[in-house]
Amino acid sequence: MNTREYIELENTYVANIYHPLEVVLERGEGVWVYDVEGKRYLDCLSAYSAVSQGHCHPRIVQALVEQAHRVTLTSRAFFNDQLGLFAKELCDLLGYDMMLPMNSGAEAVEVAVKTARKWGYEVKGVPDNQAEIIVCEGNFHGRTTTVISFSSEPKYKRHFGPLTPGFKFVPFGDKRALMDAVTPNTVAFLVEPIQGENGINVPPPGYLKFAETLCRRENVLLMADEIQVGLGRTGKMLCSEHDNVRPDVVILGKALSGGVYPVSAVLADRPILGLYKPGDHGSTFGGNPLGAAVARAALRVLVEERLAENAAVQGAYLMERLKRIESPYIKEVRGRGLLIGVEVTPEAGGARRFCEELARRGILAKETHGTVIRLAPPLIIKREQVDFIADTLEAVFHDIERQDQRVREPVLVAA
Ligand SMILES: *Cc1c(COP(=O)(O)O)cnc(C)c1O
Repeated sequence: MNTREYIELENTYVANIYHPLEVVLERGEGVWVYDVEGKRYLDCLSAYSAVSQGHCHPRIVQALVEQAHRVTLTSRAFFNDQLGLFAKELCDLLGYDMMLPMNSGAEAVEVAVKTARKWGYEVKGVPDNQAEIIVCEGNFHGRTTTVISFSSEPKYKRHFGPLTPGFKFVPFGDKRALMDAVTPNTVAFLVEPIQGENGINVPPPGYLKFAETLCRRENVLLMADEIQVGLGRTGKMLCSEHDNVRPDVVILGKALSGGVYPVSAVLADRPILGLYKPGDHGSTFGGNPLGAAVARAALRVLVEERLAENAAVQGAYLMERLKRIESPYIKEVRGRGLLIGVEVTPEAGGARRFCEELARRGILAKETHGTVIRLAPPLIIKREQVDFIADTLEAVFHDIERQDQRVREPVLVAA
């Protein structure tokens, strides 16, 4: 089968919820992926930051295979010999008392919402069914019915109502609005330390610290969605560390398993997660030994290969190179570590054509919010590969500018 046939097959039998670049991948290794025609690409999306450890990392794959030969799923009707070790290693690494394991990111966000409400009623003393959670405009926390209920993106919600109540919006980065939104019934402030899907938006300095101080004072849980920005992506183990903030609740997913298997988790201290009793929540696959063994290996790789440090070094270098590109089509380059957004100007005709041209030249990136080219390569990336990204991006901008100029001045050429 060729590229066209694979695409037609997917388009025929799979519900059309994405708008993929027309590349059909069949293999990955480290920072590279290969399509069915044998063409190689540097992966600058890393499956939305899930493949931070690089594709098919040998140690993570080995853990998967070994555990697959032992036992994969026991359900939590019984104990297994991997979950406790995974939980302890994760809690020790990030400095929390306990965790609750799930599978997808959205499920972990659901757990965070349930946890905040439960804590609000049982500890803070909020009257039943009155709990409020503050969220930010432009947030992305996943796609379940409750999670889209507090999205500000109309497209995520249209025709999916009735939606879950109990959420209040504030503009991301606005301290005053956050302060004004708190009421005696507020149980949590849920925030992405950097908004990834909304275009790599970094909040103003001091914003997260302010939120932490406010939450402490008002007896509100600070819940950080670190699914995309956590685990080394921005140059620290948690993105919140840049602001010297310790969230009450941390939500992880994506790179927690290095992209090998869906594993997510919610972390908090005992006064919060200790409120759960048998029957309060559950998941057939959550905490299964296969996922736990994979996540243990993925965390070991993050720590032993010093991937957060590499993300800081290579990210700073990539940022510096991108900021040097002179183009009327670049509005702003922003981000932290290896999560970088290049926003194009309105005249540039959207980010997608740049991503398509990058793919032609061997770099896979995906536009976000129509106008931002997201660069989030695996954290194992080396300097010469960063140069390849920067050189290629620069060439793409200059070539597209030149093309557009020719279209605008056809008469001169004809004469
Ligand atoms: C990807 C993502 C999610 C949802 O994770 P899924 O595994 O796709 O459900 C939630 N929050 C953030 C910040 C994300 O980037």
